[in-house]
Amino acid sequence: MTQSIRAARGSQLTTRGWQQEGALRMLMNNLDPEVAERPDDLVVYGGTGKAARDWPSYHALVRTLTDLREDETMLVQSGRPVGVMRTHEWAPRVLLANSNLVGDWATWPEFRRLEQLGLTMYGQMTAGSWIYIGTQGILQGTYETFSAVAAKRFDGTLAGTLTLTAGCGGMGGAQPLAVTMNGGVCLIVDVDRSRLDRRVRDRYLDEVADSLDDAIARVRAAKRDRRALSVGVVGNAAEVFPELLNRGVEIDIVTDQTSAHDPLAYLPVGVELAEARDYAAAKPVEFTDRARASMAKHVEAMVGFLDAGAEVFDYGNSIRGEAQLGGYQRAFDFPGFVPAYIRPLFCEGRGPFRWAALSGDPADIAATDRAILDLFPENESLARWIKLAGERVAFQGLPARICWLGQGERDRAGVRFNDMVASGELSAPVVIGRDHLDTGSVASPYRETEGMADGSDAIADWPLLNALVNTASGASWVSIHHGGGVGIGRSIHAGQVCVADGTALAGQKIERVLTNDPAMGVIRHVDAGYESAREVADRTGVRVPMTEG
Ligand code: NAD
Repeated sequence: MTQSIRAARGSQLTTRGWQQEGALRMLMNNLDPEVAERPDDLVVYGGTGKAARDWPSYHALVRTLTDLREDETMLVQSGRPVGVMRTHEWAPRVLLANSNLVGDWATWPEFRRLEQLGLTMYGQMTAGSWIYIGTQGILQGTYETFSAVAAKRFDGTLAGTLTLTAGCGGMGGAQPLAVTMNGGVCLIVDVDRSRLDRRVRDRYLDEVADSLDDAIARVRAAKRDRRALSVGVVGNAAEVFPELLNRGVEIDIVTDQTSAHDPLAYLPVGVELAEARDYAAAKPVEFTDRARASMAKHVEAMVGFLDAGAEVFDYGNSIRGEAQLGGYQRAFDFPGFVPAYIRPLFCEGRGPFRWAALSGDPADIAATDRAILDLFPENESLARWIKLAGERVAFQGLPARICWLGQGERDRAGVRFNDMVASGELSAPVVIGRDHLDTGSVASPYRETEGMADGSDAIADWPLLNALVNTASGASWVSIHHGGGVGIGRSIHAGQVCVADGTALAGQKIERVLTNDPAMGVIRHVDAGYESAREVADRTGVRVPMTEG
């Protein structure tokens, strides 16, 4: 069934309360054509990440949320509402578990078999948990990452550097803007011209070249002039990356965000884009083999750039693991971006704090931007981001903002927003949530927990405790997912969203959730032996029993 979905705007309830209303509007916002990659298939982002299992489930979700009471909780099993329980007003209004499988069964073939039977769906991270806000969501994380690359290798700026990447989809489309925001030049390869054009429309990508020669000429000139510029080029990364390496193009930074985590979503060399979906569905094993063989070529070229002295990193899409399965032995010669750049931030409980204005009014986001600047005047990079985001980010769906905040900061921002709703400074409630890619909410040995100091990469108790503590603290909806950005069998992660509706009760819940949620990250890193996390725990009063007494 095809239909165009758009969340309600304004301050009139369409449900029995703002906690339910927040969940309903964000479910619908995830499927807004401005936000979702393939709304007709209920796919929000990340290849196959869905907001609801199928259309009957979607309608049942909407129906149930519309009627849900303040002391009830809807249970969602992989995108389908399966129960409504009597709980209490501090309890979440929605609890979601998406894509989870028992360890030995956690493989793509088994997942797909169950998916085809209509028993499960892929929830990605924020698709099935209804807090995807379009490409801006990843933009801040990508901006942070490229800032960290600049700090590590290029004296704090990417001016005069050329970054090569691929994959200009829902998440990957943030890369060109994140690079230019850091002053650099970006060349981005995608097999699908429409993906590049869409990012030009969103102002995330500056231009699309007519050919590889044309692209090389444009990026070389910009690099020489130390001018920020992003250029897209149509092509298969498994062919274009080796070609650029062979031609000796002076590339300083190399990464990739094709949907490599799912070999059926990565286009193999020699396959036409138009035939890919039918081919993958008809012959998944053959398609997977060909995709992995192409990824092996793609990653071999990345290692070639590494050998030539470039800064190379895996951007959280499992391409190293897939290339290794495709027979390439040196795939893990370059690191994942988390151990390389993000872990020090995680030790401070710092991560992707995001919010969306249920009013639909951009003026509400402008007011919250001012509140953030007012709350954290000492944080210069935060101020730079908020200013650039205000100028450069085109909203998709409900107006939203993201910035990375740490332990002791998120709760202050959340309480301030709730006060602004209460005072009428904001015209309607806001929802406050985050990605599952956060400091204490994910176990993912190829990404967020790669190379933990104590070797605890695959321990998955932490995200489960995270979901439990957010449930116990008063979040509006809480989710536990499996797979996410790295694929089935490779991660378990949790999310939470709170609705700031301006009530005193919401204020109390928000204060607890936004203290305890990042504190999970602090204690997780203290437990793994990170000294900086211990200092943050001491400074912010996070209790860690094994360090007491
Ligand atoms: P997407 O499906 O929206 O986009 C993937 C893009 O890759 C598409 O535009 C597709 O045309 C292109 N593509 C596929 N095969 C290609 C090939 N051989 N050569 C060139 N282009 C090709 O996915 P997305 O939401 O942008 O996510 C991209 C990847 O990043 C996923 O694996 C996702 O799990 C991962 N991811 C990483 C992070 C992170 O923190 N770094 C966060 C979320 C997702």
